[in-house]
Amino acid sequence: VTNSANIDPGLLERLKAAAGPSGWIDDTVAIDPFVTDQRGLFRGKTPLVLLPRSVDAVAKIVTICHDTTTPLVPQGGNTSLVGGSVPFEEGGEILLSLSKLNRIRSISAANNSMSVDAGCVLANIQVAAQEVDRLFPLSLAAEGSCQIGGNLSTNAGGTSVLRYGNARDLVLGLEIVLPTGEIWDGMRTLRKDNTGYALKHLFIGAEGTLGIITGAALRLFPRPTDITTAFVAVPSVAAAISLLSEIQAVTGEQTSAFELISRFALELVLEHIPETRDPVQTRAEWYVLVEVSAPDRAAGTRIIVEKTIARAIERGRAVDATIALSEGQAAAFWKIRETIPDAQTREGSSIKHDVAVPIDAFAELVERGTAAVLDEAPGARPCIFGHLGDGNAHFNITQPAEMEPTDFLDRWSDVNRRVHDIAHALGGSISAEHGLGRLKRDEVLRYKSDVEMELMRSVKRALDPQNIMNPGKVVSP
Ligand SMILES: Cc1cc2nc3c(=O)[nH]c(=O)nc-3n(C[C@H](O)[C@H](O)[C@H](O)COP(=O)(O)OP(=O)(O)OC[C@H]3O[C@@H](n4cnc5c(N)ncnc54)[C@H](O)[C@@H]3O)c2cc1C
Repeated sequence: VTNSANIDPGLLERLKAAAGPSGWIDDTVAIDPFVTDQRGLFRGKTPLVLLPRSVDAVAKIVTICHDTTTPLVPQGGNTSLVGGSVPFEEGGEILLSLSKLNRIRSISAANNSMSVDAGCVLANIQVAAQEVDRLFPLSLAAEGSCQIGGNLSTNAGGTSVLRYGNARDLVLGLEIVLPTGEIWDGMRTLRKDNTGYALKHLFIGAEGTLGIITGAALRLFPRPTDITTAFVAVPSVAAAISLLSEIQAVTGEQTSAFELISRFALELVLEHIPETRDPVQTRAEWYVLVEVSAPDRAAGTRIIVEKTIARAIERGRAVDATIALSEGQAAAFWKIRETIPDAQTREGSSIKHDVAVPIDAFAELVERGTAAVLDEAPGARPCIFGHLGDGNAHFNITQPAEMEPTDFLDRWSDVNRRVHDIAHALGGSISAEHGLGRLKRDEVLRYKSDVEMELMRSVKRALDPQNIMNPGKVVSP
């Protein structure tokens, strides 16, 4: 990465002109939120933030960067949890925000598809789908600010992967500005298209290192109207896994969410987040938030869920449950799940993991991971929650109550190493849904083979030989 002193002022003026009037920011104070990551772990530098309003303007900017070998960092909502969306500290990169490229281009209920600009905020896409009585199922706690281009670039997961898959599974086509500045129009809305390499998949999950997503053609689904949401107290993680099998056996794909919440995570929410209360009367060490949904209003999901939970209680796989009687009560259950990270922040510092294992290894991950963490950092408080239905644990560790927050954070690498080694040994991943970004770029080298890393590097070299697209993220040169 070049030093900002090396970015020629004339070049900055050309980039501003390409972005168009009011399409750029060069004031240090106004730039600050763009260069600071979501968790405050990284604070980078850039002389210029560009906010183009058209695909042609993006292409012009990238062409200039290509011709002058100037590195670029694409940014969506800047909610990345791995430092992928902010520049490095040297100040030699230009930041390209997609947030003004935010039109819904077209929507077809008959084709169950919609075409959007990359800078559309995820929640706005959900609303647009709802307006034509369809569902765009991608859903995550950051949906009010993250953008579809960022979601696709990180192959985001969220709470509906169990039923609908990751972001990758929701894409029909993409429009990309390549590192040369050329535009690849792959905005096809086809269900079937076997005409060579599936190029769109290279850009999904690439975290902005191969090109800039400027548009996406997305899949829509029938909108569920019969939705049953239950908060279930379970005696153990193993019991929660059995309950998942039982619910899926009777509802199949209608099981749309299955989220695990530890007692400690629930307690943090009850203590720190206003207007929350314990949904079930019986105290347990673990809880699951279950959602079963169907498009047919008379599908009877409530009766099925009631019967399945009653049977699980008889068999000792659940101890108590509350089934939401209203949308408001269901929203209160989801509020608990979605405010856990916020509650954790209010409790002090935490060391986080986003690991995935095969579901049948999940209980072992929790057991061995907890023992390892307590051995490494005595007094630390595991605050485990996550998308159990996808085998994905946010294996987060809250600092010991009496410790200085920064002293606990000093243990970050050692604690990470212990948890990552266990996840890997169980056939798992050290980044289930957040990506590698900057935070895990080097950590992943320990777990992927040289063959796999070299394949990744050769893809990067083929598409971006000058290494101007988000350099230093995902793969080292
Ligand atoms: C409260 C909270 C909850 C979250 N929950 C989840 C969750 O459940 N599941 C999950 O997967 N993630 C979750 N995240 C992480 C984050 O929200 C997702 O990774 C999201 O998809 C990022 O979108 P964004 O628009 O903010 O992207 P950014 O943070 O701006 O960027 C992410 C990466 O994509 C690149 N990028 C952004 N836009 C483009 C583009 N148009 N073209 C090319 N590259 C681009 C950036 O360079 C960066 O590397 C959560 C984050 C928060 C703060």
